[in-house]
Amino acid sequence: MTIAQRPPGLPSRIQHYIDGSYVDSVDGDAFDVLDPATNEVYASAAAGTQADIDLAVAAARHAFDDGPWPRLQPRQRSRILHAVADLVEARADEVAALESFDAGLPITQAQGQARRAAENFRFFADLVVAQVDDAFKVPGRQLNYVNRKPRGVAGLITPWNTPFMQESWKLAPALATGNTVVLKPAEFTPLTASLWGAVFAEAGVPRGVVNVVNGLGEQAGDALVKHAHVPMLSFTGESRTGQVIFANAAPHLKSLSMELGGKSPAIVFDDADLDAALDATVFGVFSLNGERCTAGSRVLVQRSIYDDFVERYAQRARSIVVGLPSDPATEVAALVHPEHFAKVMRYIELGASEGRLVAGGGRPEAFPTGNFVAPTVFADVPANARIFQEEIFGPVAVITPFDDDAEALALANATRYGLAAYVYTSDLRRAHNVANGIDAGMVWLNSNNVRDLRTPFGGVKASGLGHEGGYRSIDFYTDQQAVHINLDQTHSMRFGAGAEAMAQGFVPGT
Ligand code: NAD
Repeated sequence: MTIAQRPPGLPSRIQHYIDGSYVDSVDGDAFDVLDPATNEVYASAAAGTQADIDLAVAAARHAFDDGPWPRLQPRQRSRILHAVADLVEARADEVAALESFDAGLPITQAQGQARRAAENFRFFADLVVAQVDDAFKVPGRQLNYVNRKPRGVAGLITPWNTPFMQESWKLAPALATGNTVVLKPAEFTPLTASLWGAVFAEAGVPRGVVNVVNGLGEQAGDALVKHAHVPMLSFTGESRTGQVIFANAAPHLKSLSMELGGKSPAIVFDDADLDAALDATVFGVFSLNGERCTAGSRVLVQRSIYDDFVERYAQRARSIVVGLPSDPATEVAALVHPEHFAKVMRYIELGASEGRLVAGGGRPEAFPTGNFVAPTVFADVPANARIFQEEIFGPVAVITPFDDDAEALALANATRYGLAAYVYTSDLRRAHNVANGIDAGMVWLNSNNVRDLRTPFGGVKASGLGHEGGYRSIDFYTDQQAVHINLDQTHSMRFGAGAEAMAQGFVPGT
């Protein structure tokens, strides 16, 4: 086994970015950051608490109340955000190398995520100049229009899987619409988040508009959730954390957008293009190390093709190249953190009693240390098994047979989650009817997860609250004030003007 190379420019200290400056925590606290391929500490990151969040929110508030950002023309903000995209593109190799090192992602997949981060900025920079809002006319009486306004300081809380891209997915629409932000990145992966400050400053984003506070969820995250001057929170993470944040935000009646966990089904019918279905379902769970919210981690296969498909699936899983994150040949690398590795390994042990192990099953021999897990497949897994019901968030697939469309749908819907679903069939009618029957925010027919940024992104049931994507993100990050203009007489009853005036009546509002 070759030893991983540390990427150039790796810092040993990771700071917050508050009011245009990189700073340590007020109390000087820091936490260790690990290299997932070795679990050696490679850096120390500032551990934010209430005091740091207070400073960041104060800076963001000042930038919102008194600064130019919310008052710029959309075109001006758009130009700056395109400059952000240019800079991210220009630094994509560096971003990918750091992300791959910090999160344990295979380098080729980290490169794709860096490009997607740039694309998120381009997309929302374009969208905000194309923004149209409704006007409503009541002929001769009233003209009503929607006055869209930024809302203030957005609190953005993000997970460790593809962290830089996830951060961009929230930063871009929040900023494009004129808000200022405080970002709390995931504590397992603070490295690439530390690049944002320099990128925004160079692109011309004014001081205080973007603030990044590192730290633990229960400290920095919690302080942001409960801060009185943060009216909206966009959160991506586990469903359980979403419940805690929902409860903590309730006393403040904050606006919430939540992208949560998943246990998505991939349904393979016997009339599908089985070669294509095999490619897509293997990629669907093992890409990004299986640390993917939309992973098709429950593969449901029609019984007539079941044995053959399981055999081919297991063979492919056994042939997946497990390697160092930095190696371009690697297909699955190291899980993000030893705690997460331990969780995934517990599920693999449990799986031995819940299904039939046909591939993987633990740590690959070539990697005695670090968070490496062999791509693992359990077949014949019943719907009541915990490995069928619970999100493992690692390179672990479960396969379950079904007989007909009704059973496929019942199995697909048999968990608390409803994020994504994938259906493989060559029957057009079946494809649309099954898609309609699945309780999931997003369904892909004969495809793995290929995004169109204009479409709604989000889950149902325990997988989320609200949708972002396209204009839905713009809606979340703005207030839509209705302004009503009278074009005629005011239509008020003349209270206090005497009985005669009263008798003249009034025309009710429309
Ligand atoms: P997590 O819930 O543990 O943490 C997410 C973020 O929340 C982190 O920044 C964390 O520090 C913070 N946090 C934790 N407790 C908090 C609290 N009490 N108050 C405020 N903030 C708190 O999730 P994770 O392990 O980082 O990410 C993996 C999860 O994210 C998986 O469940 C995955 O499915 C989900 N995910 C969902 C989507 C989606 O779009 N639906 C996308 C990516 C990941």
